[in-house]
Amino acid sequence: MESKSEVSQVLESSENTQDVFDAVIIGAGAAGIGAGIALAHSGVGNFVIIDRGVVGSSFASWPDETRFITPSFPSNSIGMLDLNSIAVGVSPAYNMRIEHPNGSEYAKHLQDLAEFFELPVRENAEVVQITNEEGVFRVETNDWTIYSKNVIWAAGEFLYPRLGGFTGSELCRHTATLANYADLDGDDFLVIGGYESGTDAAYHLSKRGKKVIMFDKDDPWGLDASDPSASLSTFTYERMREARFEEKVTLFPENAVTSVELLDGEYELKSEDGQVFRSKTQPLLAGGFDGSHALVSHLFEKREDGFPLLNERDESTKVPGIYLCGPSVRHDNHDFCFIFKFRQRFAVVAQSIASSMGIQTDDFVQAYRDWGMYLDDLSCCGQECVSC
Ligand SMILES: Cc1cc2nc3c(=O)[nH]c(=O)nc-3n(C[C@H](O)[C@H](O)[C@H](O)COP(=O)(O)OP(=O)(O)OC[C@H]3O[C@@H](n4cnc5c(N)ncnc54)[C@H](O)[C@@H]3O)c2cc1C
Repeated sequence: MESKSEVSQVLESSENTQDVFDAVIIGAGAAGIGAGIALAHSGVGNFVIIDRGVVGSSFASWPDETRFITPSFPSNSIGMLDLNSIAVGVSPAYNMRIEHPNGSEYAKHLQDLAEFFELPVRENAEVVQITNEEGVFRVETNDWTIYSKNVIWAAGEFLYPRLGGFTGSELCRHTATLANYADLDGDDFLVIGGYESGTDAAYHLSKRGKKVIMFDKDDPWGLDASDPSASLSTFTYERMREARFEEKVTLFPENAVTSVELLDGEYELKSEDGQVFRSKTQPLLAGGFDGSHALVSHLFEKREDGFPLLNERDESTKVPGIYLCGPSVRHDNHDFCFIFKFRQRFAVVAQSIASSMGIQTDDFVQAYRDWGMYLDDLSCCGQECVSC
């Protein structure tokens, strides 16, 4: 940590230069690029987006066969923003002519947006530490240290998979680390976790004639809820009704896996109800993501569920000036895990930063509100709510 005078020196020598940014966005995924566009629209110009890979690299690392569950449709002409859009007036459906893009296609869409909006992106720079002193953030990457008055943490979840949870979980392979399902050897698969990723794995494997046994501690396949953050998507229910899925996939709801062992070249899985399953194929783990927010946990208070505690502007309640954007945003029981949900908070964050700099934001807020991209009243949100 630098001494007080060193930080002050940087600030003084950097006045009116680009050395001290008004905002730094960590992560150039859907949240980082979307927040960057909103920031630019709000009138904040002195910012940079940093990514440890390239723009959209997290989407590009999805298994090849995995597609968006939320459909894209060119509905913008009547003011209803395409569900997978992260920018006002933009429609991935119109740009790509694809309803359910795969990860690489969406990564390309994000790259096109970064280019079109001329966003200041610095790629291949991994943020390893953020500290705050005298109200200024020091952001260290592997080869660059910068200072900023505000930080937007948008480093996502996908690159931080949850690997624990039961004895022997390290013997399993997380679905987030798979390049594709086509190249997986084996005929019998054990899949642990049955929400979107697990059911997606089971679908692609069953399509290739593989037998799948899938476990979940809850019953994601039988849940009756209208919010896709709680239940499976329509896209997934449709795929589960395909003959191959019904024939090849056996579901074990409300049956948590308690252990996995490797015995004489075979994986032995035990479940809560006392049953034992064996397979020669490495079990697949689809138990979700720890998320990147653990990297900045020292800058946020924690909610009871472990997610960062945020004020009404998605800013840390502990260290003013650091904001969270993306699927880890939580308010009360509202979960912003999908793009069409968390995109509605980009402008809330941008407005907060812009107005702290004395920028007039009324027109910006109204324009975003008109596109359903400025959600500041969460009282409407809930299971049966159609707007979030
Ligand atoms: C299989 C799967 C299917 C999904 N399908 C849908 C869907 O159909 N519809 C939908 O709305 N959502 C879907 N989601 C959720 C959606 O993908 C995520 O919510 C979205 O990727 C989150 O965007 P993000 O920008 O927060 O994170 P990411 O897209 O993961 O981007 C984070 C970026 O941060 C960078 N980064 C991470 N750590 C650092 C660091 N220390 N320093 C610098 N850079 C860093 C990464 O390289 C990455 O580019 C799906 C998720 C998965 C896993």
